[in-house]
Amino acid sequence: MIKLIKEEMSQLDFDYVIIGSGFGGSVSALRLSEKGYKVLVIEKGKWFIGKDFPKTNWNLKKWLWQPNMNLFGFFKMTFLNHVTVLSGVGVGGGSLTYANTLPIPKTNFFTSGSWATLNNWEEALKPHYETAYKMLGAATNPKLHAADLAIKDLAESIGKSAHFEAVKVAVYFGEAGRTVEDPYFEGKGPDRTGCTHCGACMTGCRYNAKNTLDKNYLYLAQQLGAEILAEKEVHNVVVLGVEDGSDGYKIEYKSSIGKKEMASVTAKGVIFSGGVVGTVPLFLKLKKKSLPNLSEMVGCAIRTNNESLMLVTSMDKNPKDYSKGLAIGSILHTDDNSHLEPVRYGEGSAFFRTLTIPVIFNKYAVLRFLGVLLLFVKFPLKLLKTIFTKNYAKRTSVLLFMQTVDSTIRLKLGKFTKMKTVSEMGATPSGIIPEAFDLSKKYGKIVNGIPFGNFVDVLLGTPTTAHILGGAVMGEDRSKGVIDKNNQVFGYRNMFVCDGSMISANPGVNPSLSITAITEYAMSKIEAKPS
Ligand SMILES: Cc1cc2nc3c(=O)[nH]c(=O)nc-3n(C[C@H](O)[C@H](O)[C@H](O)COP(=O)(O)OP(=O)(O)OC[C@H]3O[C@@H](n4cnc5c(N)ncnc54)[C@H](O)[C@@H]3O)c2cc1C
Ligand code: SF4
Repeated sequence: MIKLIKEEMSQLDFDYVIIGSGFGGSVSALRLSEKGYKVLVIEKGKWFIGKDFPKTNWNLKKWLWQPNMNLFGFFKMTFLNHVTVLSGVGVGGGSLTYANTLPIPKTNFFTSGSWATLNNWEEALKPHYETAYKMLGAATNPKLHAADLAIKDLAESIGKSAHFEAVKVAVYFGEAGRTVEDPYFEGKGPDRTGCTHCGACMTGCRYNAKNTLDKNYLYLAQQLGAEILAEKEVHNVVVLGVEDGSDGYKIEYKSSIGKKEMASVTAKGVIFSGGVVGTVPLFLKLKKKSLPNLSEMVGCAIRTNNESLMLVTSMDKNPKDYSKGLAIGSILHTDDNSHLEPVRYGEGSAFFRTLTIPVIFNKYAVLRFLGVLLLFVKFPLKLLKTIFTKNYAKRTSVLLFMQTVDSTIRLKLGKFTKMKTVSEMGATPSGIIPEAFDLSKKYGKIVNGIPFGNFVDVLLGTPTTAHILGGAVMGEDRSKGVIDKNNQVFGYRNMFVCDGSMISANPGVNPSLSITAITEYAMSKIEAKPS
């Protein structure tokens, strides 16, 4: 059991300050509050409730987080040289924009990467996956819709029917639209409303059916006294007294919206939970400044889940409605290492048509560029019709392909840009994965469409990922990792990393459940505060 060092330091403002309120931050907030600690969560994004969410993703002000353009929504795109990262910003972090899917990775995840020798992870995490399922209100999607059924047809056509299934999701499936008293936490949680299968989960659930973190972990933590400070971004963490942090820390933050007011609080412990694009750049900056003892491994072993996203728009005269259902309602395991999920946006959410071009698969960027140009010359009407068709969201499925095949990149502070990535281990992540392209073409035949991709992915060959992981991984010691097997940061006391950056191998599937379970495990190792 890990003891909070210097328990007598009651003059500090908090026992623990948690930076970021996504999966890792929310679990930490609840479990530390239950153990009697005084907890503050600092979150850079806004609070969102029901009707605060936009009706479609054309409402950029409510949807996108891009403060330099005065956009303060909850969906962020970070463009790096090897990858475009999608993430969530707001109270509840990525849960506000995620597609609710909660798979458990296969054995390979638990036995590979820098954490492999530190524990029998599959065994050790089993009970924590169960807790995570319970806390997030996981249930199997009860209804397959048009996009799921098309994937089912695809499964049949490639002889993989037995490998198609409905997914487990963090959604309340009561009677559609009917509100009931808390069905999950014996009355201690908030009211929930039955899912309407509107498909809009990724632009935020306006119907109180999605089990976002503010409806479970954060809600319960607040009941126990945890405080949440929204719209504040932590920019510095300074050691108080003894160099290893055993005297505590000063956490400095500034307003992330409006006038840039500065303030600080002190705490005995700090949990970094800003997600990979929050924690890793902050660590890289602090290593040069106030936290020099951080491992040289900060920024290393970042994985993209070997992911590819393609869009197929049905050009049938009377198309089915591919926007209905859950954002992700089913999965096809195409082989031991690969998975395909049909993803949708709700009716009217057609922003991504502005970024797409048809996919051309070729090693050379020039040939890809010429190939796309040639397609537009050969089939101008067909392609423009696909992009500008009426009811784009209703006609479009996003195909998310993920693999456990391992490769890593490294994140560094850039000289001219805020951050840059460099190749580290294995093949550099690719925007077009041949298997994914092949499956998308087959899906296209079923729905009468052709694969399109984000123009950055197609032309530059870099992938877009919603599942960036690593950068503060586990290791035997500080030469091999940033944190130990209990998520404690090497070089500092009472400092932890609990978010996607702690993920030390490639899950090859959507990671939020694993981030939740591993944080549950780490929190179970912290002793309760002595009364
Ligand atoms: C569109 C989309 C769909 C997705 N669908 C799925 C899915 O179906 N299933 C799944 O498992 N995963 C999905 N994901 C991925 C999932 O959202 C992330 O893996 C997960 O949210 C990561 O959790 P985390 O704990 O690392 O932190 P996050 O959830 O990313 O939260 C980090 C929080 O910290 C805040 N923050 C960062 N830096 C600071 C700072 N300096 N000061 C204060 N606050 C800070 C951020 O604003 C953010 O709110 C999806 C992601 C996207 C973008
Ligand atoms: S499908 Fe619609 S109602 Fe159901 S969880 Fe998603 S956004 Fe909410």
